[in-house]
Amino acid sequence: MTEELPHWIGGTRTAGGSGRTLPIENPATGEIERHAPMANAGEVDAAVQAAARAFPAWSATPPAKRAQVMFKFREKIHQHMDEITELVSREHGKTLADARGSLMRGLEVLEFTCGIQQFLKGELSPDVATGIDLSDIRQPLGVCAGITPFNFPEMIPLWMFPMAIACGNTFVLKPSEQDPSAPLRLAELMHEAGLPEGVLNVVHGDREAVDSILDHPQIEGVSFVGSTKVAEVIRRRGTANGKRVQAFGGAKNHMVVMPDADMDQAADALLGAGYGAAGERCMAVSVAVPVGQETGDALIERLAPRVRNLKIGPYTDTEADMGPLISSAAKERVEGYVETGIQEGAEAVVDGRGLTLQGYENGHFMGGTLFDRVTTDMRIYKEEIFGPVLSVVRADTPQQALDITNGHEYGNGAAIFTSDGDTARAFANQVQYGMVGVNVPIPVPPAYHSFGGWKRSIFAEHDIYGAEAVRFYTKHKTITARWPSGIGSGAGFNFKGSS
Ligand code: NAD
Repeated sequence: MTEELPHWIGGTRTAGGSGRTLPIENPATGEIERHAPMANAGEVDAAVQAAARAFPAWSATPPAKRAQVMFKFREKIHQHMDEITELVSREHGKTLADARGSLMRGLEVLEFTCGIQQFLKGELSPDVATGIDLSDIRQPLGVCAGITPFNFPEMIPLWMFPMAIACGNTFVLKPSEQDPSAPLRLAELMHEAGLPEGVLNVVHGDREAVDSILDHPQIEGVSFVGSTKVAEVIRRRGTANGKRVQAFGGAKNHMVVMPDADMDQAADALLGAGYGAAGERCMAVSVAVPVGQETGDALIERLAPRVRNLKIGPYTDTEADMGPLISSAAKERVEGYVETGIQEGAEAVVDGRGLTLQGYENGHFMGGTLFDRVTTDMRIYKEEIFGPVLSVVRADTPQQALDITNGHEYGNGAAIFTSDGDTARAFANQVQYGMVGVNVPIPVPPAYHSFGGWKRSIFAEHDIYGAEAVRFYTKHKTITARWPSGIGSGAGFNFKGSS
């Protein structure tokens, strides 16, 4: 029997009671190492009730005191960094260095919440009329929930719950069922840091748990990150139930390479951004758009040997550039796309299928794949593959490169590599994407800015983390006050201006 993970409800480890579990694999070995309980509606309700009980006291706790818990939580994460990183790599498959880097990006959001008072302070307008003062304040929503994807099992939860909790909300996290151990550990560490019981709860589960969250009348706000297909459903069902919902979806990030770009730099950037974490990043570059046939040839000439020489291995191999895909189903899906691309007429310069690593024959490894002469009507161009597959779509002119980039339904990240400032500036202004890189392939903004795409990469009014998240996790209130000395006699029946 393998270990079965508990839920984390009301500050205690709580065994699953639905009778339904799913296996958690080590993607490098294909071995089942643990099981996760799949919560039913009753278990989700128990977590929501714990969060609802905790809300009155937590929301009344001064923001500075909430921030102190965040400081201690940060210390705890630093003390347990190796352990969390190992949990991420073991269940996700990414290299330890990459897992550490993504944990650091999550930590940056936590660090932002250590100064949450700055963002929760209100505004006061004295004398909006004679003897009348008006103040603007922001108050928490209540119980919020987060539903997160497999590809950043620690970072994306850290983009959500510290922000929500620092703003005075209580939280129920439903992490990905494929790699839920790291987020569970984070909840335990936050408890050790002094967070009162019930403020943060973790329920494992799949669609049944998600539906229970979306239908639960006591949940006020839902943050979702995952595929576009699911994001749309979450947004629709959650808002139909009267909730505030921010849902972030999939991507097909383009990188335009101009003839004046340094081709070695561009090729290196594409290698890291296309194949890092086996392409399982929402900010992975999956489409390169070289401008001009010569640029295309020069890029392919540099990319092909680099892709062939990618070092692929388990997370325990410190030399590895990338690890396996998350599951056998993911590997089958991505290899299926490679076959589709070939059938569609794309030129497979490097075909990463059929890779087997000695000693890891049951791992979900795949080599990097490089397609040239991909066209915009192909499925491998239109759909998010979410694997180590880079498509090169050749453009004749800068305008055509921009049109191709803008023509895609997703709009998360786009980049341009060029040495010309005017070209870069025009691209940055005209491209229809939420996050733009100029000679930066994966432009993930720091915690004191915000993260969010455009078009079908987002179904939300507010981006995730930073000041945008404070707006999402709080309601705005104005208080207009006067005191007896400022109140005239008699009833007032007419609207009055301030003058
Ligand atoms: P996914 O959509 O399959 O799952 C995300 C979450 O939704 C999980 O917690 C899962 O349990 C739940 N879920 C899955 N199917 C569901 C259904 N039918 N009904 C209700 N809930 C369901 O995504 P994934 O495979 O875990 O993650 C990869 C996807 O996430 C990619 O599309 C990637 O681009 C996207 N992603 C986007 C961002 C972003 O910021 N835009 C960041 C990371 C990942």
